[in-house]
Amino acid sequence: MTTARGQIQTPVFMPVGTLATVKSLDTKDIEDLGAQIILGNTYHLYLRPGTDRLQQVGGMHGLMNWSRPILTDSGGFQVFSLGKQIEGKTHDEMRKLHPQGKLPNIQSFSTSKITDEGVHFTSHIDGTKHFFTPEKSIEIQQQIGADIIMAFDECTPDQADAHYTREALDRTHRWARQSVAAWENRDRKSVYGHYQALFGIVQGAMHRELREESAQFMSELPVDGLAVGGETIGYNMAGTVEVMSWLQDILPADKPRYAMGLGRDPQNLIDAVLAGFDMFDCVGPTRLARNGTLYFGKLEEKDGLPFFDSPYNKARLQIGNLAFATDNNPIDVSCDCYTCRAGYSRAYLHHLFRTSELTYYRLASIHNVRVMVRLSEELRSWLERQT
Ligand SMILES: [Zn+2]
Repeated sequence: MTTARGQIQTPVFMPVGTLATVKSLDTKDIEDLGAQIILGNTYHLYLRPGTDRLQQVGGMHGLMNWSRPILTDSGGFQVFSLGKQIEGKTHDEMRKLHPQGKLPNIQSFSTSKITDEGVHFTSHIDGTKHFFTPEKSIEIQQQIGADIIMAFDECTPDQADAHYTREALDRTHRWARQSVAAWENRDRKSVYGHYQALFGIVQGAMHRELREESAQFMSELPVDGLAVGGETIGYNMAGTVEVMSWLQDILPADKPRYAMGLGRDPQNLIDAVLAGFDMFDCVGPTRLARNGTLYFGKLEEKDGLPFFDSPYNKARLQIGNLAFATDNNPIDVSCDCYTCRAGYSRAYLHHLFRTSELTYYRLASIHNVRVMVRLSEELRSWLERQT
């Protein structure tokens, strides 16, 4: 995949740098662990530091001293997920209370209000009111200066009924057309003058006919790549793979396919690559690292198919376990990450984790992100061997 800032080898795992930082890592760390591209979140960067300040320092690249490609999301997902309050609870909290039940209609519980024009929302930081339209989202992404930008979309909860999902999908399609127009109005360039690739996002929740229609619609737009979004993607892998199989023959073969928010567990990446996808991002590796979960395992092959082999459930080594308190081995003796190569022991990481020392977060995040980046490199080699 070629961007204004050079080539990206796919499949590619993109570490998430929500606020122009991959949590606990500095820019040099991210380069050293081999990340080819990182993700920034439009919603967060728009609120802080804000687009005026970003423009004065050369956008997200200038701010964080990062010279490789950046992808920004449209802000839609955060507007909905952070703005949504159901009876005073967030969407996630409500889902835990009603794991099987149907949630109330979005419009009736949300502090963000969706109209056909866009989304009114309240900042989760200071309560100020804002309004995102497709044009506004593209404008902000031009000011952030990413190399790949996303069309504005509505991420519909899987529990939404067919009628609501239909309405939301029509809106997402109209917004995609408007996003394309806003992108073309600026000659497809950022405010800094470089080309920005635009991706469309396929929605439709778990309704097959809506997903297929959405894939068809997005494929006909003059976009550079196609993404699949939605609540299921990356969280429910059986559902994710099912959705991917519906889209397999509809999405154009010559454009990159991006699974948004996918990559919490190493095996997820493998499953998505086998389903034909090329690009992935997830906060999982760094969030899990901070909570004491370190990936452990390696890519193996069985019956001609790759899988992530590990003695641990979901390849998750829990560094807080007492068993590691006196373990002098690195996390993984065969890992090429800085933390493992430098010789930091499980005992040391266990101690740093138990005492909540800041050094722990960096060393653990370096390992987990490197496992995902290396896995995408190994999957590329595996794919090359198949042809
Ligand atoms: Zn390591």
